[in-house]
Amino acid sequence: MPGPRSSLVEVALPVPVRRLFTYRVAGAPPPAGTAVRVPFQSRTLTGWVVGRGTEVARVRDVLGVLDSRLALGSELLGLARWIADYYVAPLGVVLRAMLPPPGRAAPRRRLVARVARPIGTLVELEGVFGRARRQREAFEALVQAGGWQTVAALAEKGFSRSVVAGLEKKGLVRVASEAVVRDPFRDAAAGGEAAPTPTAGQRAVLERLGTAEEGRGGTFLLHGVTSSGKTLVYIELIRKVLEGGRDALMLVPEIALTPQTVSRFRQAFGDQVAVLHSGLSDGERFDAWVQLQAGEKRIAIGARSAVFAPVRRLGVIVVDEEHDGSYKQSESPRYHARDVAVVRAARAGAVCLLGSATPSLESWANADSGKYALLELPDRVGGGVFPEVRVVDLRTRPEGDGAQRIAHFTHFTQSGRSPESAKTSGPRGAETAEPPVPPRQVISPELFAALGRRLARNEQTILLLNRRGYASFALCQSCGEVMECLRCSVAMTLHRARRRMICHHCGHTAPPPPRCARCDSAAISYRGLGTEQVERILMDSLPRARIARMDVDTTGGKWSHRDILDRVGAGQVDILVGTQMIAKGLDFHRVTLVGVINADIGLHFPDFRSCERTFQLLSQVAGRAGRGPLGGEVIVQTYVPDHYVVRAAVAHDYRGFVERELNARGDPRYPPRVRMARIVVSSPVQEKALQGAEALAGWLRRRVGGRPEVLGPAPAPIEKLHGRFRWHLLLRGGAADVGRALKSVADEWRPAGAGTRISLDRDPLHLM
Ligand SMILES: [Zn+2]
Ligand SMILES: [Zn+2]
Repeated sequence: MPGPRSSLVEVALPVPVRRLFTYRVAGAPPPAGTAVRVPFQSRTLTGWVVGRGTEVARVRDVLGVLDSRLALGSELLGLARWIADYYVAPLGVVLRAMLPPPGRAAPRRRLVARVARPIGTLVELEGVFGRARRQREAFEALVQAGGWQTVAALAEKGFSRSVVAGLEKKGLVRVASEAVVRDPFRDAAAGGEAAPTPTAGQRAVLERLGTAEEGRGGTFLLHGVTSSGKTLVYIELIRKVLEGGRDALMLVPEIALTPQTVSRFRQAFGDQVAVLHSGLSDGERFDAWVQLQAGEKRIAIGARSAVFAPVRRLGVIVVDEEHDGSYKQSESPRYHARDVAVVRAARAGAVCLLGSATPSLESWANADSGKYALLELPDRVGGGVFPEVRVVDLRTRPEGDGAQRIAHFTHFTQSGRSPESAKTSGPRGAETAEPPVPPRQVISPELFAALGRRLARNEQTILLLNRRGYASFALCQSCGEVMECLRCSVAMTLHRARRRMICHHCGHTAPPPPRCARCDSAAISYRGLGTEQVERILMDSLPRARIARMDVDTTGGKWSHRDILDRVGAGQVDILVGTQMIAKGLDFHRVTLVGVINADIGLHFPDFRSCERTFQLLSQVAGRAGRGPLGGEVIVQTYVPDHYVVRAAVAHDYRGFVERELNARGDPRYPPRVRMARIVVSSPVQEKALQGAEALAGWLRRRVGGRPEVLGPAPAPIEKLHGRFRWHLLLRGGAADVGRALKSVADEWRPAGAGTRISLDRDPLHLM
């Protein structure tokens, strides 16, 4: 029987309206999840078929069916609909975040040029190449790139095929067609260590999870202190799920997706693991999806968006470091992968296991109320003890070194001396003079002495300062003006190696100001210590130490983050300085000292989660010390040693912190004591943003009648961002009321004025 000549399909489009569109497609309707090109107003858009369409007055034709290999099963389509509904986002926007871009399978093979015979000396180079300048340059490019390059990459650098052929003829290079290495974690396996046997504590946890796994699933919160062996629990649970014929999903924060992490799973499960990470190309992501969908891989490991991985028979979702902020997506759909994981697992009858040493207050409250089951691992494995934590009170430090540092910088700008030496740290030439002692507010004598002991014993140190750049603001000493970004109401940060002031919110850069823009004074001082400056001070005062810095500025390349960790693992780094990046998941046995340069950064942000975040960061970084038999020590420098956050972190007292913090969120009420959403109204014109926010607040108040409560409008703490002025409203109340109010805003309220935009954020992570 011939199929229909044409069918109507419902298509979800990534446009900011919450509805679906009907189109006509030739032949039978393609399966849900199929990407199609369709006309929309005067444009052509890519959308996704989500079901059969119904007859409407004017139907336009689908222009092309792009790919139907990624069929979206009913399980994932159902999840997408739930996300669209809960986070009040158009289904097409949700699907765009969920699915790999259509039809871009990665190429399977490519031509690769490899160095066949290395050339040792310059003399030999001259002899071999003579006047063949391009050949020599191509050869050097190959050597520099690590001995090989694709022919296509060489062509991009301007080395033609005939140049490469010339190298081949000389026997210096071999060109061959090679299979594409699609998985950068391919080599992460090996090691061959026998899997450790679970401890009594781990066994008890696994028994409870096993029972749930055989039954109808459930959500568990695993509160396990740092180094308590949570990963072993994850692995054993996944093993059991696989044995039972079901598949597994493992979420970790992007920054913790290291070869170290992956190799533990590869050792346990070999080739069944698909790693989904931000370094994948579209084609690689597409391939991973196809493999998971076909059941060729049965475990997906990845960061936030891996929560959508199409594993076939879902048996378990593990969310490690469930408190981590990177699970929340900052643009629409503003979903939280942990919460999506809980929902996805529940819909599939699977187990959801949330693990953390410092659970979010939301998860803790859910465990407290019995919604989640609480599991605990209170002890470090192998009888490891918690590192000793010492607090250094910075208030008792004499002032005075600041001026010296400013002079130092002025000298640099005026003389134009290259700051490049900052990049290559490590042992340098013979020092003639005694190295200077670092300023006491940066590295206290206690911390400096402890650092020296590590260097003498050939042990490693991690130093945390959660602020990147050299100095976080430029202040006019005459009039008090702080140099702000042109487009955002935030101070510009000095990046000394790049000799630029940079806005950390929009990336705008400007030269360091020679004079104050307001009063023309030349007395500009740079304040607010950043990681780049700490690195510099350490290099000056510990010239023999090998220092590495890890923050957004040093990890821009695809794998530079991994390279730095490899160097630490190989013992090539004595001191690792970094932002919160270094606080997560690192497990190096020779790290015996962790220093927190300033524990207070972030503590005083105008945001209800600032205490929680600071506590988590301090606890996590302290947990990096003493993970091996050498033991460990933590030194925390602070101006507020009596603050409950600092006290609880120092005492490893999670419960004490949570009790106090939950109390603080009762009045005024903040999550998890109440549900919340945030609406930001923005416009390039300040007045329009204010008027829009006021109009919306009035409309919404009349509409919802106090359920939920509508707070504001108020200017957002970052009042201007990317050139747009921002006012916000907060909705506070029960989940159903908050959801209903957001939907009426999305569907019924249209801001007056073309440039005004609104954004909705349900369960916001921050209110900045
Ligand atoms: Zn001034
Ligand atoms: Zn900016």
